[in-house]
Amino acid sequence: MEISLGEENGMHAEPIRIGAKEIPVRIIKKRIRNSYARVKNGEVVIELPASLGSKASAKTVLSLRDRISKAILSNPGRYLLDGQLRFADGQLTRPLGTEFRICILRAARSTCSARVSGNTITAYIPESTPPSASEELASKVISKVLSEASGRRLGEIVEKINSSGPKSEVRRLIVKPSRRVWGYYSTKDGSLMLNTKLLYAPYQILEYVVVHELVHAKIRSHSRRFWDMVRSFIPDYKERRRWLRENSFTITS
Ligand SMILES: [Zn+2]
Repeated sequence: MEISLGEENGMHAEPIRIGAKEIPVRIIKKRIRNSYARVKNGEVVIELPASLGSKASAKTVLSLRDRISKAILSNPGRYLLDGQLRFADGQLTRPLGTEFRICILRAARSTCSARVSGNTITAYIPESTPPSASEELASKVISKVLSEASGRRLGEIVEKINSSGPKSEVRRLIVKPSRRVWGYYSTKDGSLMLNTKLLYAPYQILEYVVVHELVHAKIRSHSRRFWDMVRSFIPDYKERRRWLRENSFTITS
């Protein structure tokens, strides 16, 4: 029923250390042809073909681990915020192409909140928040209000995709941050949930997730019939699915 952000198993390799931070490295053997590494939810996942021998596996893990360490070092903020979008004070952000300016203020209060006024999103964080934690804290509340602010525009896009695609019933659209799934369709109440990160994804990726979930309104399982229907609307769905698996960590605010 959902597009999972990953599977929960595997062996571990030596963690990658960046400053005081340790990033776990997980290794998964699978029936795939090529090895690759990615960062997901604050950890590095290295996938290897199940057929690869132990010597070759060790060598591949070392080289992929080295390559991804360099990528993380060159832009740690992008990789290490646990799947959450990151926002900085003064930043311009364009969810679905609409521009907003981000403003992060310290205020005499005990909780964190954010609001949208015109094209400015202001986050208020408690004065007591240590500077190292303020951006992460602000990013969480900004993601939430941004989801609400973009809801109408996203609703129009979903309607367009749906009417020229699966034509399923969508009674409610929910946009929210999730570390686990890209989207979810509930046959119980006809609601469609989409991950806030999709507001920044290439249109084709958003389209694929919407079609995937709305086909679930008709076929619940990932059966042959399900994928045939997805393909009838998106002939190159496999490529888009792969992009989501391999490059989604490049989606930033
Ligand atoms: Zn699915």
